[in-house]
Parts: sequence; structure tokens; C-alpha cells
Amino acid sequence: MNAIQRIWDDNNTIGGKCAQMGELLGLTGPVKEAVLMAAFYDESYAHNLLVCRRDSEMLMFLLANPPAMHAHKPQTEEKKTTELIGKLSSAVWRWAKTGFSTVDEAMLDKRLQSCMTCPNLAGKPESLLYKALSGNNEDPICRICGCVVSKKTRLTSENCPDPHPQMPGVSRWEEAF
Ligand code: SF4
Repeated sequence: MNAIQRIWDDNNTIGGKCAQMGELLGLTGPVKEAVLMAAFYDESYAHNLLVCRRDSEMLMFLLANPPAMHAHKPQTEEKKTTELIGKLSSAVWRWAKTGFSTVDEAMLDKRLQSCMTCPNLAGKPESLLYKALSGNNEDPICRICGCVVSKKTRLTSENCPDPHPQMPGVSRWEEAF
């Protein structure tokens, strides 16, 4: 575990994670929360950040212009939204460590098939954050981890959180824990 990973694991605040994302990109300060979240939900944006991290002019432009998420957080949903952001920022870090890589089509199909037949699949909750993040009101979520499955299934760094009901040691995606 290197120094950045250790600080990240020790510091579970959103601000800390934004700081670590800043370090990952070679910045002297933290990225904005909007940048952290946009990197998770927009693969092109994440790849562009990584590719441009040594081109300061381009990087500054990208950091100043994260894709719009249209998220407004009402008071009643504040706690739930904060928890979701916490989970997602951890996922961003795991994903960043893989170089923002995504799975191939065959693996994506297999994962999606597992999710679509899974008893833990649920319709999306009436949350403005979910609406903003998925951009698709029909997009279902996983009841266990709270992730939008069409997003989570694409990331190399992610795994299904539920043990496979027939196959010991692997998830419902048939991937080792
Ligand atoms: S991630 Fe796993 S538990 Fe969640 S819906 Fe997909 S298969 Fe089911």
C-alpha cells in the first residue's frame, strides 16, 4: 500500500477523497466534489482526466468543466445522499487505481444478465441524486449496494456484493471476492 492509498483508506471524508483525487492527478489541491462524482459517472470524462494529467492547460479546462449532473439535494434526503456520495467516492478511487478501465462487452453482458435476473434488483428510488446520476429514469439499482447497475457493471474495479447462491467463493457475477 503506497502513501496515497494509506491516506485514502484512513480518511473517509469526501473532502479527503477529493484531496486524494487531486494528488492522483498531480494537482496541488483537491478536486471539486463535482469532478469526483462526474469522473465516476462519465467514463469519457474520467479517461480524459487521466490522459491529460500532464497537460496542465487541458487538465485545468476539464477540471473547470465537469459534465453537468443537475443534482440538487433536498434537506430530507441529505443523509442518504451523503452516504451515497461516500460509497461512490470510494468506488472512484478503486476505479482510478485501475486506470479508469472498463470491462469488455462479453463480461459486461454476463454481469448485466446476472443483475437482470437477480432478486436484489430494484427500481430506482425517488431520489433526485439517482435521477441526476443515471440520466435514465428507468435505470434499476442494486438493493444491496445502492449502485445504478448499468454504471457499476462497466467498471473493472467493481464486483457484485452478493455471494452466488450455488457457487461458493464467487459473487452472483461469478467473479471471485
Ligand atoms: S450487483 Fe449483484 S446483488 Fe446487485 S443486482 Fe447485480 S447481481 Fe444482484
